[in-house]
Amino acid sequence: MSKVFTIDVARCSGCYNCQIACKDEHAGNDWTPYAKPQPLVGQFWLKVKETVHGTIPKVKIHYTPKLCNHCEKPSCIGACGNGAIYKREDGLVLIDPEKCKGCKKCASACPYEVIYFNDDLNISQKCTGCAHLLDNGKSIPRCVEACPTGALRFGEKNEMAEQLTGTVVLSPETGLLPNVYYKNIPGLFIAGTLYDPIEEEIIEGAACHLSCGPRVWDTVTDDFGDFWFKDLPAGKYELAIKAPGFALKHISGIDAGSDVNLGDIPLDQQPPL
Ligand code: SF4
Ligand code: SF4
Ligand code: SF4
Repeated sequence: MSKVFTIDVARCSGCYNCQIACKDEHAGNDWTPYAKPQPLVGQFWLKVKETVHGTIPKVKIHYTPKLCNHCEKPSCIGACGNGAIYKREDGLVLIDPEKCKGCKKCASACPYEVIYFNDDLNISQKCTGCAHLLDNGKSIPRCVEACPTGALRFGEKNEMAEQLTGTVVLSPETGLLPNVYYKNIPGLFIAGTLYDPIEEEIIEGAACHLSCGPRVWDTVTDDFGDFWFKDLPAGKYELAIKAPGFALKHISGIDAGSDVNLGDIPLDQQPPL
């Protein structure tokens, strides 16, 4: 039996309700033996990360809620010399606030940086999966309950086949086998705007053909002369642009290690035959 979270990034509107609900549930509330109160400032057991892609005017934003992964093989448990961290039968990983001695070894051992330190209480703290609610009749944590878009889900792993389809975990190379699954994390984009420098007009409906080794993508420019290739893997790209009345244009060696805005691209008019 293992509880899992699923997070659909495409559905996340960045409303921060989950982050606020977690704060409301835990700041100032003593849920011992599950957790002592979270400080009012300095800790977000669930933190919504904003990622901005590209450069103005070709900009996209996505939001990624991050919390303890309640890993199958949690490195935090082995790092604690006081036996304060344990994994419950339902898979949730908790820090016993009575046993924690404040050595911070768990925080150093967690590659996901989701353990915080409470200076006033001298203990490490993190997401509890709202185990205090689950053990008292609730089926979902506060953050999940607060999500208005259904981006955040929680349940038994073997009952969530649909939500788990097409998901990935963060940094799988850690080998900790996280139980927070993400889907629709955007890949990179390559974008630009085509224009005719003589007529000083944007060019609509131009065919844009992108390639990276054997992989190819096709699109056409929209009403603003823009083309967007989205969800690309990192790599070196070649772009070929074809528009009626204009010479074929090639742009090679596009280095997409991050998002690329190629900016305004002039096309040369073809001389009349
Ligand atoms: S994400 Fe970090 S704190 Fe949470 S269970 Fe995994 S190793 Fe432990
Ligand atoms: S499960 Fe509870 S403790 Fe964990 S992030 Fe959600 S609201 Fe916070
Ligand atoms: S509550 Fe839902 S939609 Fe709002 S930020 Fe959190 S996951 Fe995204």
